[in-house]
Amino acid sequence: MMPKVLILDASVFIYNCRINEGERITVPAVMGELKDGISVMSFELAKSAGMRVEPAEQHYIEPVRKMAKRTSDLNTLSETDIALLAKALQYKDKDTYLVTDDYAIQNVASHMGIQVKPIMLKRIRDVLIWEKRCIGCGRYFTIGMVCPVCGSRLKKARRRNSYKVTGRRRE
Ligand SMILES: [Zn+2]
Repeated sequence: MMPKVLILDASVFIYNCRINEGERITVPAVMGELKDGISVMSFELAKSAGMRVEPAEQHYIEPVRKMAKRTSDLNTLSETDIALLAKALQYKDKDTYLVTDDYAIQNVASHMGIQVKPIMLKRIRDVLIWEKRCIGCGRYFTIGMVCPVCGSRLKKARRRNSYKVTGRRRE
């Protein structure tokens, strides 16, 4: 079996996620998004553990831009995001995952048949935002079986306004 390829976005280093499986690759532009010592150290550690830093190739950047335009994500994506998508596209024929929490990246990736893996922190937060919703009035509660407002039953639900965790800074 071919080793899994993981394309890592900046949030992996911002959240200091230690990823040791597979072939790990990122793009140079990611370094520009690491603003504090811990993220930079996390990046350096990943590099010394075998992560490769490869620039994206123009040949793969063009189709990404085209798709992002079609899905209306082009204005939301940074140059770094596009480079990461291009890198994932380049390795698409292998068992490749783009590791990111960014929804615009995820959207373009899904349209291009690129597999996405959210980072672990995100998955944990997703679990935490599961709560209960009243089947009568639609209010959300964290505990209980019966709605204290209208008396209807509470059903387990996922909160719709879950907030986005990307760790990126946009100026
Ligand atoms: Zn209710």
